[in-house]
Amino acid sequence: MMIEKWTIEMLKNRCEITDDHWLFIGYRENNRYCRVSIEGEMILVHRLSMFLATGKWAKENVNHICEHKNCCNPEHLYEGNQSDNMFDTEYGKGRGGGAKLTEDQVREIKASDKRSADLAREYKVAPGQIYNIRSGLCWAHI
Ligand SMILES: [Zn+2]
Repeated sequence: MMIEKWTIEMLKNRCEITDDHWLFIGYRENNRYCRVSIEGEMILVHRLSMFLATGKWAKENVNHICEHKNCCNPEHLYEGNQSDNMFDTEYGKGRGGGAKLTEDQVREIKASDKRSADLAREYKVAPGQIYNIRSGLCWAHI
């Protein structure tokens, strides 16, 4: 299928929606990332999702802020280099994370309706940390 024919809704329709994750159902490489064939090319579905959400292809890697490698909710994706993939690190999982933020900032993050990736940039923390705050994995007492 031509890339022009794809919409974010079509992508979502191919996913199992659990909570706010969009888990792609389809070919999964080594049980990690999913790809779809577009014009003969195997495209990573999370890159496709980012493209459909923003209208441009990510120049760098597209990383997840959640733990699901096949999740293609654009809210759970951000562009960055490999080392930014903070959810895979101890820090991103919230162990020792949160040290950089004050309680007031955590309250602001919880009240905000901005995208996690934007908040991460704003507060200069890992996107995984924003995700952890929003999902109650850390700072749950606030
Ligand atoms: Zn997700």
